[in-house]
Amino acid sequence: MIKDFELEKIVEPLLGWFIENARILPWRTEPTPYRVWVSEIMLQQTRVEAVKPYFERFMRVLPGIKDLAECPEDELLKLWEGLGYYNRVRNMQKAAIEVMENHGGELPADYGKLLGLKGIGSYTAGAVASIAYGIPVPAVDGNVLRVLTRVTADDTDIMRQSFRTETERVLAALMCENGIFFPKNKDILKWKEKVYRENLPGAFNQALMELGATVCLPNGAPLCEKCPWQEFCRAREEGLLDSLPVKAKAKERKIEKRTVLIIRDGDKVAIHKRPEKGLLAGLYELPNVEGELQQEEVLSLVKEMNFRPIHIRKLEAAKHVFSHIEWQMTGYAIRVEEEGFEEDGEENHQLIFVDAEHAKERYAIPSAFAAYAEYMNIKLGVKKDKEEADA
Ligand code: SF4
Repeated sequence: MIKDFELEKIVEPLLGWFIENARILPWRTEPTPYRVWVSEIMLQQTRVEAVKPYFERFMRVLPGIKDLAECPEDELLKLWEGLGYYNRVRNMQKAAIEVMENHGGELPADYGKLLGLKGIGSYTAGAVASIAYGIPVPAVDGNVLRVLTRVTADDTDIMRQSFRTETERVLAALMCENGIFFPKNKDILKWKEKVYRENLPGAFNQALMELGATVCLPNGAPLCEKCPWQEFCRAREEGLLDSLPVKAKAKERKIEKRTVLIIRDGDKVAIHKRPEKGLLAGLYELPNVEGELQQEEVLSLVKEMNFRPIHIRKLEAAKHVFSHIEWQMTGYAIRVEEEGFEEDGEENHQLIFVDAEHAKERYAIPSAFAAYAEYMNIKLGVKKDKEEADA
């Protein structure tokens, strides 16, 4: 169990391993508070490799907190397009505004004050405080819980908030009370890299996460022969690699059938702005309705919208998995004729017709629609195939 394990012994081998094996990541080369914060928010529920190009583009467009605070919402959502969980970036903007108004434009170098900002929980506060400011506080994410439950053979359910809190408490004690994380401790100053010598708390937290991300992998496949803890790891000793960490099964996702429509009128394509609250709030989407509609039903629906369908084509099925819902989608591309619809952005039945050629660049369409967004700029009725029909 974590509580009865001598955690002091994980520190030195871990830091030694990290110095040799730390990945070079864009946010690590220049760990300013803003860059650490943005990277940590992006990395929630998204893989490192997928985050890299988004991070670099975000930093080019919004290099500072002021830029983030002042960015128009549509532009901000467009920058986040593809990363999903858009509330993350909305909350970041709210926090950036608060930092501009109440903290002199700098993220506070204070764990408690960081926790008070919108969208910043104990993990992110710990990461920013330790990595950017060298404050000895833990940053406990899923990787950290996995490596620690394995090395200590702790079979507590890691999904329990009480266990996360207990782990934070134990690590905070290790980092603060023992004093090993303060540069004045001569024994640990042997580390050669300046950045780690000056910021042991940041290095320690990153090393724990790095070990989980690259060596002590999930799903029973840890690379123990590369692990700096292999000589004293209890899960390895006791043959518990497959059973740790213990993780309560998440609730099953709700399946929702939807029919997605790509409605083209000449050079325009229809999009719709989602409500300001709820799933994918405020983003643009392709028109869609609940249920799996047949071709005839789609044609009736389109006619009810006062469009005259000319061609219809059924598209391949697609699915998108949100945290609690799975959309199973059927798509149709429909060419329509509609009178009185000339200008970009004119609305009809809450649809907005926009220039098809540039729609994908200008509007943040959530990745849930990625399979069908490809068809937004494809002209229909030019070449028929077996699934395309005159309507
Ligand atoms: S020895 Fe293996 S199971 Fe134990 S912490 Fe290292 S990688 Fe994980």
